[in-house]
Amino acid sequence: MEITRSSVDTAKGPEAWFTGDVYIDAVAAARSPARVQANLVHFTPGARTAWHTHPLGQTIYVTEGVGLCQRRGGPIELIRPGDRVFFEPDEDHWHGAAPNRFMVHLALNEVDDDHVAANWGDKVTEEEYAAAGT
Ligand code: MN
Repeated sequence: MEITRSSVDTAKGPEAWFTGDVYIDAVAAARSPARVQANLVHFTPGARTAWHTHPLGQTIYVTEGVGLCQRRGGPIELIRPGDRVFFEPDEDHWHGAAPNRFMVHLALNEVDDDHVAANWGDKVTEEEYAAAGT
């Protein structure tokens, strides 16, 4: 058993990966050969990820606020606490807060020596984000 006390500083989401202010707290960081990674991610209003993919897929579980997510070519979906979204391996997508609301989700990823957690692409433009119309 290993207890990690709440001593790890919250990390600011890197500017290359996010638009707006996003804060990340590590929840689980298993050692190999286990491969689960979990992070609690706080998005401030209007903040969102860039377009990206996850080689092994990703589950997000919304715990607070109101959020948005979209897969490439699909509609922008509104997500709320208790909603769970699975992004298929290599499915291009983004997720974030609604324009006027915070959003918090747990993000569950798997990584191994051959698969990174995410591959990052272009930022979600204001035009793409505004298409939510919320
Ligand atoms: Mn994702």
